[in-house]
Amino acid sequence: MATLIDTHKNIQPKQKLRHPEKAKNPESEVLRKPKWIRVKAPTSKGFAETRKIVKDKGLVTVCEEAACPNIGECWEKSHATFMILGEICTRACAFCNITTGLPNAIDPQEPAKIAQAVKEMKLQHVVITSVDRDDLADGGAQHFVDVIEAIRGLNPKTTIEILTPDFLRKEGATETVIDAQPDVFNHNLETVPRLYLKIRPGARYFHSLRLLEKVKERDPSQFTKSGLMVGLGETKEEVMQVMDDMRSAGIDFLTIGQYLQPTRKHAPVDRFVTPEEFKAYETIAKAKGFLLVSATPLTRSSYHADSDFAKLQAARQAKYG
Ligand code: SF4
Repeated sequence: MATLIDTHKNIQPKQKLRHPEKAKNPESEVLRKPKWIRVKAPTSKGFAETRKIVKDKGLVTVCEEAACPNIGECWEKSHATFMILGEICTRACAFCNITTGLPNAIDPQEPAKIAQAVKEMKLQHVVITSVDRDDLADGGAQHFVDVIEAIRGLNPKTTIEILTPDFLRKEGATETVIDAQPDVFNHNLETVPRLYLKIRPGARYFHSLRLLEKVKERDPSQFTKSGLMVGLGETKEEVMQVMDDMRSAGIDFLTIGQYLQPTRKHAPVDRFVTPEEFKAYETIAKAKGFLLVSATPLTRSSYHADSDFAKLQAARQAKYG
């Protein structure tokens, strides 16, 4: 699911653990971020207004749950990414700061609340993601559909981007979501296949790749998008192989961002990839035929998703007419 980061450093004693499955992990030092990863504090009026709408409606955002470093910039422009299906994830990825454990019941009012929030925030493009819900028979697929339909009912001009879990072992779930016709179907591969067991142990690289391929086969009009974190120990050659795999699956839009270690118990940062190396990844990916590439240290799946959607449409128009 979401490619993410955070800055929550330490878990206080007696506080409920956000990641109980990581309690026995050895601690590793959280490296000081280089100067190119500094962000401004979230203090703007727009940020406060976005937060009020989110809080008043009792909604969950991945921006907060993952302590995304871009929250000040995004929320100032009302760009919040809503996280549906509760705030507790049934997976235990080594990179992710979302709380893990037994999930909450689904809020049947959530689709209507999100649709109303989209209206109040006047969003032209909205991104919806979720926790993994391995406990549900359909992995939460129908709830994605309900949210898409509610948004569309109240905001017919708003374009909708979804960032889904992998729906592993949930027969028919991906098809259910594809048939709701989101404008952008995003699912992150997160890292190179060699690191899956360590970083994304509950997922399968080729299953995730196949999911995205299936979207294109079933509805070629949908844009497909996927993201990678770098700085986890991958090599440049491995990243280039993933790019080729993505292009074979027809993926339109690639995002690449720097992995940041949420806590001492999460996977350590192997290294900080320089802005010049990101630029090189962008150049290589463009040469491989992606319609759009975003590769910067602070790139996240939903970062600048609204303006990038316009760029995607323009790039498709220029390429295919
Ligand atoms: S990059 Fe995405 S997750 Fe981060 S603050 Fe912006 S919208 Fe939220």
